[in-house]
Amino acid sequence: MIRRPTRAANVATRFPGTAWTAGAALLAALLLAVAPVQAQRADLEKVIRRQVLPNGLEVVVAENHGVPLATVEVVVRNGAFTQTPEYAGLAHLYEHMFFKANDRYPEPEQTIERASQLGAVFNASTREELVNYYLTIPSDSLVGGMDFLAAALLSPRFLPEELAREREVVIGEYDQNESSPYFRFDQEMGQRLWTTQFSRKNTIGDRDVIRATTPAKMRAIKDLYYLPNNSLLIVAGDVDPDSVFARAARVFGGWKRGPDPFVAAPVPPIPPLTRNEGYIREEDVNLVSVQIQWHGPSVRKDEQATFAADVFSDLLNAPASRFQKKLVDSGLWEGVVVNYYTLNNVGPITISGQTSPDKLRAALKALDAEVREVVKPGYFNLAELEAAKAERAVSSAFGRERSSEFAQTIGFWWSVSGLDYYMKYVDEMARQSPAQLAAYARKYIIDKPHVTGVLLSHDAHAQLGLTEDELARWGAPAPLSPRSAAPAASRRPAAGAKAGAKAGAKAGAKAGAKPGVKP
Ligand SMILES: [Zn+2]
Repeated sequence: MIRRPTRAANVATRFPGTAWTAGAALLAALLLAVAPVQAQRADLEKVIRRQVLPNGLEVVVAENHGVPLATVEVVVRNGAFTQTPEYAGLAHLYEHMFFKANDRYPEPEQTIERASQLGAVFNASTREELVNYYLTIPSDSLVGGMDFLAAALLSPRFLPEELAREREVVIGEYDQNESSPYFRFDQEMGQRLWTTQFSRKNTIGDRDVIRATTPAKMRAIKDLYYLPNNSLLIVAGDVDPDSVFARAARVFGGWKRGPDPFVAAPVPPIPPLTRNEGYIREEDVNLVSVQIQWHGPSVRKDEQATFAADVFSDLLNAPASRFQKKLVDSGLWEGVVVNYYTLNNVGPITISGQTSPDKLRAALKALDAEVREVVKPGYFNLAELEAAKAERAVSSAFGRERSSEFAQTIGFWWSVSGLDYYMKYVDEMARQSPAQLAAYARKYIIDKPHVTGVLLSHDAHAQLGLTEDELARWGAPAPLSPRSAAPAASRRPAAGAKAGAKAGAKAGAKAGAKPGVKP
């Protein structure tokens, strides 16, 4: 079974954005008590070995002899981000065609039979900025496993009958997604957030495009992206690195390098949002779901902000944080989660939460007020910061325990940010200061254009008289104080003040005028 991209996958929390758990928090506290946080890079360099084959294929070996298993994974820099509208959903359909007929196993089902002979558990996934394929096998089947993966990767046949079947499987996944009340909401939010480049974020894609796919389109994807110089091979687990490198050179060495796909088909920049937008969707739900999204940093353009973003999210999500106390413990929200999803081509920042219809306006107002507080000195205290850093170090170490998980983590970061980013991740996190967190919030969140979406029942919508215009005013710039409106730049502050005053009058949610709460 091929895993489908899910709602959860779009708000990836299993990579460094791991959510807080009681166990991990406790361990973090213990770790803090007994030992300083180890430098992650030094730890990783002990377990990770890397080589690049002459054809450009990177090979990473992560040794772990805990259990007699090995995971072999291939990551290709493909995914939604390469999709023009005519290809929306085809990175994922290609993924479905991977464990199918190829030159070595030319008959339908032969590939699957070979996998079961090897005792392999295999899967694949498609995300915004990577596609990966992996199998876990008994470590004494490693050679067979590498050969198996190479055959699928290098010589797919895209048999028309298999493509016809997988098209239906993917349409089935599409239908299943659609049966969730959140799917259409997420799609509509995505369209507002990414506008003309939505296909570059839309992993599940477009139903009509999927239906009309031909083997020729599959081959076009292969020729452009499935190149050794655009891929990574990871072997993790109970293996000997030197034998893996030798075998990799034999099995993948003949794979022909090609032109850099991102020179041949450059990924256009995401157009910046120019204004706030509101979106309302009615579904048969009891609670009200709120989702507010901004354009966050691009990892290869503003790397430091991505570290700040993750610490920032961790601190606000910590159950004992002021943010959670004000918003959730107060009863206004059932829950509120802050997330930054690290991507190379603009990662989204999302604040999502649930509340009841009668509390919605008060909850939104309190959220706006609290978001504006985070840039004030003293908002984050150092003890919280230390705990979050320790928790990241622990969850990162936990994630390395299982080789299959570790391989996926390595693959994600290799494709999105480059592996060096991952190697230094915990160390960079540990360097973040309250001032850097505030700078991140100022640069990407406070008074920045965003989309505010609300999902609620028809009745709640009618009772509240909520409009998209009202939602578009959430988080609008605060009215300027007389002092800051004073000198030189007369035109723009005046316009801002007018917009702010209007928003204040209608929504009555002007947080900027409130006195800050001192810690
Ligand atoms: Zn799928």
